[in-house]
Amino acid sequence: MTLPPARASWFLAACVVVAGCAPSGAAPADAKASAASVDASATPDASDSSYVARRIEAEPAVPVNGFRIVFFDVGQGDAILVQTGTGETLLVDGGKSDSLLHDRLQRLGVDHIDAIVATHGDADHIGGLLAALEDYDVGTVYWNGSTDKDTSIFKAFFAAVVAEGSTVGVLKRGDRIELGEFHAVVVNPRNPLTGDSNGDSVVLSFGCLGTKVLLTGDAEFGAETDMATAGVLEDIDVLKVAHHGANSATSDAFLATIKPEVGILSVGQKNAYGHPAAATVDRLNHAGVALWTTDVTDQDDSIELVTDCGSPYVVRRVYGVR
Ligand SMILES: [Zn+2]
Repeated sequence: MTLPPARASWFLAACVVVAGCAPSGAAPADAKASAASVDASATPDASDSSYVARRIEAEPAVPVNGFRIVFFDVGQGDAILVQTGTGETLLVDGGKSDSLLHDRLQRLGVDHIDAIVATHGDADHIGGLLAALEDYDVGTVYWNGSTDKDTSIFKAFFAAVVAEGSTVGVLKRGDRIELGEFHAVVVNPRNPLTGDSNGDSVVLSFGCLGTKVLLTGDAEFGAETDMATAGVLEDIDVLKVAHHGANSATSDAFLATIKPEVGILSVGQKNAYGHPAAATVDRLNHAGVALWTTDVTDQDDSIELVTDCGSPYVVRRVYGVR
């Protein structure tokens, strides 16, 4: 079944960060502090020049030569939607809750999903994908081919993929996902797999000049070293911080290699796992990475990146209405 495009309200309220221009307060730690001061329960005040406020009545346009990424606030977990300027849609992970992902996709007006990537088999990445498979006709589902998960959620996910009749693709380092003009390069996992669930996360590298993005799943130090050794890491602009900011990922050496300007942390409030770890945040701060997190308020704190692959990219906070 395909959902009709949602016409629901979708407020954007943002401190706009443009490549090369620091967020208010300049220091990454202040970026979060600044965002935390936003009262998300109120309608954004368009007269406040520190915010851009606009109401979207239909699906927002994606620059025709570029792409848009929405890092959904799904609490503890990852759910990342990539929309290309030519209309292709790629969903990378789905968070833990199928109802939450359903809500996020519907309110954003997503009317089709061409492909899904399940970075690895943890529940906070694949649980919500059941909603995507239920709601949309998904052409291809990619995963890393790991059979080390014997959990009920993994079995349910795989049963849903089979029931959907999607093409199933196994991703290893060096593979490419191609959707129209858009392509993403797989830089992890290695082949053969390591057997470590997080370490075998699918890591995707894509973008254009001035907007290079790395989506890391829950890859940890071992995978970072392995990718560096394989020579597949490059200078990027935007990093989806691995494993929700756990202290087992995002080493100084990794940051020194990829040199991100912006870091997106997908993490739940009052986190039972202690994510993000203070030491990881310190490493990101020390590397000069402007951090954006999804746990600032009790409401939807999704984060959007938009680029036309010519002008500087824009990162902003997206408030849905609960
Ligand atoms: Zn995770």
